[in-house]
Amino acid sequence: MLKFIQKTALLSLLLLPTTFNTTFASEPPASIKAILHDNTPLNPGKVFDNVYCIGTKSVVAWAIKTEDGIILIDAMWDDTDAKTIISGMEKLGLNPEEIKYIIVTHGHGDHYGGANYLRTKYNAKVVMTKVDENLMNTVHVGANSSRSPKTSVDIYVKDGDKITLGKTTVEILETPGHTPGGMSLIFPTTNDGKKEVVAMWGGTGIPREKELQLDYKKSVSHFEKKSKEMGVTSEITAHLFIDNGYQKLETANSRKVGELNPFVRGKNGMEKYYKELHDSIDTILNRK
Ligand SMILES: [Zn+2]
Repeated sequence: MLKFIQKTALLSLLLLPTTFNTTFASEPPASIKAILHDNTPLNPGKVFDNVYCIGTKSVVAWAIKTEDGIILIDAMWDDTDAKTIISGMEKLGLNPEEIKYIIVTHGHGDHYGGANYLRTKYNAKVVMTKVDENLMNTVHVGANSSRSPKTSVDIYVKDGDKITLGKTTVEILETPGHTPGGMSLIFPTTNDGKKEVVAMWGGTGIPREKELQLDYKKSVSHFEKKSKEMGVTSEITAHLFIDNGYQKLETANSRKVGELNPFVRGKNGMEKYYKELHDSIDTILNRK
């Protein structure tokens, strides 16, 4: 869950407080809890030439369409959300039967909960780390409550592994911190035909446990280094209530070819983003 919401998000998000003392094993405060359980659907949108965003105010899934099928990133909370993903994909002209992989960024119910439904219906392969599969299967409270069906995992991944479908390869980065086995992702796409490289930081919330906080700090550095190596220019997230995401999705939806895509940050914008990630964890660590 979310302990810390980035500063930039605050400006756009009802002036929520900066710190939330929550972990996966405890209940989040009312302000965040209300958003995390708000399953009002968002207008699904095409964000890049082959990358689509479908979800609710709580959490979203991302679909990457390739020549050989669709890679889905995250599956939201539960069967109901899985059906939201299906109807959203259909609205966007995507065929959910083409889902081949479901990459679950980490072992919290708001990310894996819809995976079992989609895996069973479409024979898709669920991709996860072994560590967070264990988290999913051993914690049954908070974000891992009975609301979210557990899923079988078909492919275990570790740092540096790649999931390739068609001409698209998604690079897996292990970034423990938010959860012990969380991962971040980097993949190429195009925006109006121009190459962009997208990064997804897999877990925004900073946990309460000191050990995980130290892992989180290391993971931010790893994420930054790898993102720079791979020339990342754009950034997406599973929780659009941070970083003005609702508005970004609306803008992406209504923009015309050649107009600014708010998910494209450019290299300078990404520098700012890495700094925000560093600052968020440093603020927590320096407080003790
Ligand atoms: Zn989480």
